[in-house]
Amino acid sequence: MKPSRFSYHRPHTVDEATRLLADTGQHGKVLAGGQSLIPLMNMRLAAPEHIIDINHLTDLDDIAVTSDGVVVEALVRHSRLAADDAAHAAQPLLRKALQLVAHPAIRNRGTTVGSIVHADPSAEMPAVLLLTGGSIQARSTAGERDIAAADFFVGPMESALRPDELAVSATFGTAPDRAGTAIRETTRRHGDYALAGVAVIITVDAEGAIQTARAAYFSVADTPQLVDLEAVLRGVNVRSGVELQSVADFATAGVEPTADIHATADYRAHLARTLTVRALSDAMEEVRDA
Ligand SMILES: Cc1cc2nc3c(=O)[nH]c(=O)nc-3n(C[C@H](O)[C@H](O)[C@H](O)COP(=O)(O)OP(=O)(O)OC[C@H]3O[C@@H](n4cnc5c(N)ncnc54)[C@H](O)[C@@H]3O)c2cc1C
Repeated sequence: MKPSRFSYHRPHTVDEATRLLADTGQHGKVLAGGQSLIPLMNMRLAAPEHIIDINHLTDLDDIAVTSDGVVVEALVRHSRLAADDAAHAAQPLLRKALQLVAHPAIRNRGTTVGSIVHADPSAEMPAVLLLTGGSIQARSTAGERDIAAADFFVGPMESALRPDELAVSATFGTAPDRAGTAIRETTRRHGDYALAGVAVIITVDAEGAIQTARAAYFSVADTPQLVDLEAVLRGVNVRSGVELQSVADFATAGVEPTADIHATADYRAHLARTLTVRALSDAMEEVRDA
């Protein structure tokens, strides 16, 4: 199908883009990589009257590692972030997660910020932003505000971004010293959206005892779900072997899986538990000799 008629705008500065967003309000949509928006428009599931193409905002094309974290601007494509060695050193989970996002052609065009704003509960990067304690920087004609990931994902495909706001960047938290990170998901085919997935971060002390542990689930509930595992994992030594099934049961007890045409809620719950065991094993292995 073809999209319904729309007016096309091509701003060259952020100010021009935010003015257009302010003018078009509910009827305007930002076009970044188009990997989610264009299919939705072609299927007539979205029919914005104004498209504001931000691909010429060349001042929003940077990746920087700062004291705040890994700052990824709005035009950075998934593939570029995955290839960035400084970002990888600061937060290894980024590359691990991005390798699971769709296929190379989609990663070459789709933006990481676009994926976060799109707020698909099946997507990897919203869960990674939440897990790392990240945030989104939003700009409008009224100024700039920082929205914590914990407040950003309000429903399936629904974020806290207002229609007049442009997400200028996303900031991912960096990995602390002696951190182990992992991400696991189950898909029908390689590159598909996950049926269920989990990302984890643990930290250990010099003796290998776990200090902090967190998991974030995607494609399980309506929004990414963060679970603190410190109560069950703090003090556990990664060098002496741990029974993880009960940890996985604890982790998934509060996560309420949803059912859809791809999986029942029970199947998602089963996948979430199994993937938790695997992801925690991976993360523990990574820091065994840290
Ligand atoms: C076949 C296929 C498989 C895919 N598989 C996966 C997958 O496994 N995992 C995954 O995570 N993703 C997957 N994707 C989606 C892909 O990651 C998209 O690129 C991403 O979700 C959206 O990024 P985009 O830059 O293309 O955004 P667009 O499609 O341009 O925009 C998406 C939405 O975000 C808004 N938006 C975008 N950028 C901004 C901004 N800076 N400020 C304000 N609003 C903004 C748009 O208005 C729109 O509502 C898949 C896509 C396809 C087509």
